[in-house]
Amino acid sequence: MEFKHHDPEEQSSNYDSAWHELKARHGVAGLVRGAGLFSVILMLGNVALPMLLLTIGCASAAVRLSKRFVRSFRCPRCGHEFFNPRSSIDLVAARLCNHCGLKLWSTEQS
Ligand SMILES: [Zn+2]
Repeated sequence: MEFKHHDPEEQSSNYDSAWHELKARHGVAGLVRGAGLFSVILMLGNVALPMLLLTIGCASAAVRLSKRFVRSFRCPRCGHEFFNPRSSIDLVAARLCNHCGLKLWSTEQS
């Protein structure tokens, strides 16, 4: 096999695939949010209150899980958690790795 393992271009494409994965995670979280909101709206006025509350409970639990899924994304450079686990706004505001400062969507090799 003539595949070079220390080719810098290969590394940058490794970053790319990590960012691609993060976008996919954001996509999944967005779908869960949409589906949760949709099912709650669908239930409004159509079911008894306990059923509605149960739906809201399930929907918000699913949204929490999907956020955790996005949050567990690891930095492609340092391998630590990219997002600050103690900040709740970090998920949308973060532009740098919480540990090594790697820029979000960066393809730099330093
Ligand atoms: Zn990092």
